[in-house]
Amino acid sequence: MTNTPAPRDLASMTEEELTGLFLSMGEPKYRAKQLFSAFGKGQRLSEVTTLPKSLRERLSSDFPDTFPEVEEKLVSRIDGTVKYLFRLYDGACIESVFMRYEHGNTLCISSQVGCRMGCKFCASTIGGKERDLLPSELLGQILAAERDLGERVSNIVMMGIGEPMDNYENVVRFLRLLNADDGRNIGFRHISLSTCGVVPGILRLAEESFPLTLSISLHASEDEKRSQIMPVNRKWPISELLAACVTYYRKTGRRISFEYTLIAGKNDTKEDAEKLAHLLRTAFAGTGAPLHVNLIRVNEVKETGFRRGDAESVRLFAKTLEERGVVATVRRRLGSDINGACGQLRRSSSKTTASERQETLE
Ligand code: SAH
Repeated sequence: MTNTPAPRDLASMTEEELTGLFLSMGEPKYRAKQLFSAFGKGQRLSEVTTLPKSLRERLSSDFPDTFPEVEEKLVSRIDGTVKYLFRLYDGACIESVFMRYEHGNTLCISSQVGCRMGCKFCASTIGGKERDLLPSELLGQILAAERDLGERVSNIVMMGIGEPMDNYENVVRFLRLLNADDGRNIGFRHISLSTCGVVPGILRLAEESFPLTLSISLHASEDEKRSQIMPVNRKWPISELLAACVTYYRKTGRRISFEYTLIAGKNDTKEDAEKLAHLLRTAFAGTGAPLHVNLIRVNEVKETGFRRGDAESVRLFAKTLEERGVVATVRRRLGSDINGACGQLRRSSSKTTASERQETLE
């Protein structure tokens, strides 16, 4: 199945591109700045009253409005976490999660409708990938959540549905829009991007020199084990992945965060922790890079059958890493009452069947 062709939509354009568009329409240049900064404030085209009505009508007949609509909203009674199901302009649905932390409000956003990476424990990939998200839809999740809540988001994590590196061009364009002075203006240091290990994407991102935080979903320290749960490892094995991480660190000077999902009886023993510490220490030897692993107990997904271990197994795993010079943090589980693991809300609402849109990684 091929991707839906990207519509040329206004909110995915840079200020320079909008300038070119307005000039070609015989409109003054300052209109571009007006529209770009209105989009950055979360306005939709129809609401940008600084533009003449006739101009707005002309634009809206030529370009789709890709602003996400709130289809469903679940609010945690425990900690105020909000999970959104957003409906996109073509009817597709994605999830975003708003979390309140001491260091600020954080939004976890999706990068694709579905995913084709095939990780065995993950709900987002079960039906394959439907399409990539547009830059405006990546940005729109932030703007729509802020609008709905009347609160500002200060940190963005790209850890929702989809693989950001499998939608590279749109993701990088989105990062530039997000960072633009006249746009939403969120600094790269407030952005984390997580990948399952698409090596060419990591190397390309290293060249962009964005000071964002890169997270790597590692989840196992040996190729055989990792390939079993993450098919992406057959294409880019652990040695290549870590070599790309070292290159990334050397280019950007930014610490990399390794995500490790603990699955009972699969990758959560003391020996697994020892192997992980050894692997990271060896790969980064001589670089001076601080080593950091983020641990999370697997969220049980009905279809996958993986089990969550007890709290003691996490403590022992973290302690074993720390004793070997690897900083380990245990991810807090927010919104446990509304969770149903990432990707499951979309699945339960989805009316298309998996076979209609299946696309999987080779
Ligand atoms: N595709 C990207 C980003 C999306 S997943 C990536 O793989 O990094 C965000 C994180 O959640 C990843 O670390 C992923 O491996 C993890 N994850 C997915 N399903 C999970 C589950 N059932 N339990 C715990 N973590 C899960």
